Amino acid sequence: MKPLSEELKEIVGALKMHIEMERLAGGEELLMAGSSEEPPLEALKKEVLSCKGCELYRTRRNVVFGAGNPKAKLMFVGEAPGMEEDLQGVPFVGRAGSLLTKVIESIGLKRKDIYIANVLKCRPPNNRNPLPTEILMCEQYLRKQIEIIKPVVICALGKFAAQTLLRSTVSITRLRGRFYDFQGTKLIPTFHPAYLLRNPHDKRLVWEDMKKIRKILQKN
Ligand code: SF4
Repeated sequence: MKPLSEELKEIVGALKMHIEMERLAGGEELLMAGSSEEPPLEALKKEVLSCKGCELYRTRRNVVFGAGNPKAKLMFVGEAPGMEEDLQGVPFVGRAGSLLTKVIESIGLKRKDIYIANVLKCRPPNNRNPLPTEILMCEQYLRKQIEIIKPVVICALGKFAAQTLLRSTVSITRLRGRFYDFQGTKLIPTFHPAYLLRNPHDKRLVWEDMKKIRKILQKN
């Protein structure tokens, strides 16, 4: 028969081992919870935030990745961030942004319902037009965003968004107002809100395009 002190030692040893095993099991659970997969849009955003794919990274204040509902049925695509967007890191703020909000609300939606992104994620200096090389380097991110969000309708705002996505050189005046196929998704070009600020008489045409979008969204 073992002495009492030996038995106590064994019990304490077994208890310690049990506690250690419980701790490891708990730790493993925590580890598993921590390693759960990151949402793909977030993972893409991280990648883009550190992008130096073209020279625009040198002059940007913020990368403007995109904003809105990652499960949006309607996605707007603009050209590139302007001064306000560059400062805030958010697409379509300022006057053109306010007008876009009105356009969105005209079909009974809110900004939180839709997703907004640009062809370029960094601001071209002095708001100059995007260069073909910049579009070439950056549009992959937009295409990935579209792949992840899988919207029912894409509304391309202005010439650069429409021509880039449709691989077209046709003017926005001729492209707008009709649906095109973009890799199985309906895409409709319309005028950019910044253009509408300069040409308010064309707002009527944009409202017409929005009504067409509303019709599609109601069926989906
Ligand atoms: S504009 Fe696009 S490609 Fe150029 S640095 Fe910014 S994120 Fe990268």
